[in-house]
Amino acid sequence: MSVKESPAATSTFADLFGRDPAVRADAPGRVNLIGEHTDYSGGFVLPLAIPQRTRIELGPRIGPLVRAWSANVESPEILEYRLGDEKPVHGWLDYVQGITDVLRQDGYTLRGFDLRIESDVPVGGGLSSSAALEVSLLRALREAFGLEIDDVKIALAGQKAENDFVGAPVGIMDQMASSLADDKTALFLDTRSLQFERIPLPAEAEIVVIDSGVTHSHSAGEYRVRRQECERAAELLGVRQLRDLGPQDLWRLPSLPEPLDRRARHVITENARVRSAVAALRERDLPRLGKLLYASHESLRNDFEVSIPEIDDLVELASEEPDIYGARITGGGFGGSIVAVARRGTGRKAGERIAARYGESGKRKATVLVPTA
Ligand code: ADP
Ligand code: MG
Repeated sequence: MSVKESPAATSTFADLFGRDPAVRADAPGRVNLIGEHTDYSGGFVLPLAIPQRTRIELGPRIGPLVRAWSANVESPEILEYRLGDEKPVHGWLDYVQGITDVLRQDGYTLRGFDLRIESDVPVGGGLSSSAALEVSLLRALREAFGLEIDDVKIALAGQKAENDFVGAPVGIMDQMASSLADDKTALFLDTRSLQFERIPLPAEAEIVVIDSGVTHSHSAGEYRVRRQECERAAELLGVRQLRDLGPQDLWRLPSLPEPLDRRARHVITENARVRSAVAALRERDLPRLGKLLYASHESLRNDFEVSIPEIDDLVELASEEPDIYGARITGGGFGGSIVAVARRGTGRKAGERIAARYGESGKRKATVLVPTA
């Protein structure tokens, strides 16, 4: 068999595999409007899809061989493995192997396939390129092999692949958003029951995401610590998860050792803010929604301690923009992006002004990633 070496990032499916694809599928990245660090406590989240998507082209093969290629990796090359012989290689192929491994474990019958991946979701930028890859691949496999798997099961299979095969202890928000949300509708999701409701974004609103350009290598370790702190706080308060507590329980928190009291306060108040944000969206009350975003940021900075000075600066600059209703850190924290709600039609310009002022010293550079419009 001939395998081409490092085909150019512009290679088509036909260039790579010598035939046309049988199936095409895609799935979006996501941004979380509010409800941060609540999912592993069984709480509420409110993500939207973003316009950027991961696109899959797939052609079934005879036999168990899988050949996969992505345009979004350094020096793209065709990688191979056999179904039933999935082994982590600690690279992007693990996302593909994880999906076929999970599907086979769940009793689905697959055959080998050729796969081309291309995405305009920034990879590793906190907009969930990983879920976009998992969900788009699962959609392509569903179509190619006639799998009976619904959109919620697709989200669960993506999460399981990422948890068990890739080894990233992520919650279910990213995959549910990629599988079920769109860029004009927020997904109000109960991460424990997986019940969800679609909440349209008011026509007067626009979402802006600004990347701080800062990534922190210890964020995975901090994430684990926050998870453990939330579990411990729930245990000490005698509930299964912090999600089982509401604002009426806040008086109990001083009994917890520091910093568990503040961690619990963030989760409890954030869950309440998600509900209020849903009400604000329904009433098209964007100033109220904006205040909730600022309050979420304060809570993530002071109580959950996952912000950094650069992100705080971006939120501060956003608060000085008259067309921005509210802003906060989004994603796991310790770097990454802010999400802001702006008056429709103004988001791109406001975002660029914020990025320009943030970068004035020349030492740091912000990027406006997403105005949905
Ligand atoms: P995020 O989901 O925020 O973008 P993650 O670290 O969760 O960041 O996932 C990024 C990883 O997912 C990449 O390092 C890569 O292994 C894989 N990945 C995502 N999109 C692609 C793609 N288009 N092609 C190849 N690998 C991808
Ligand atoms: Mg991810």
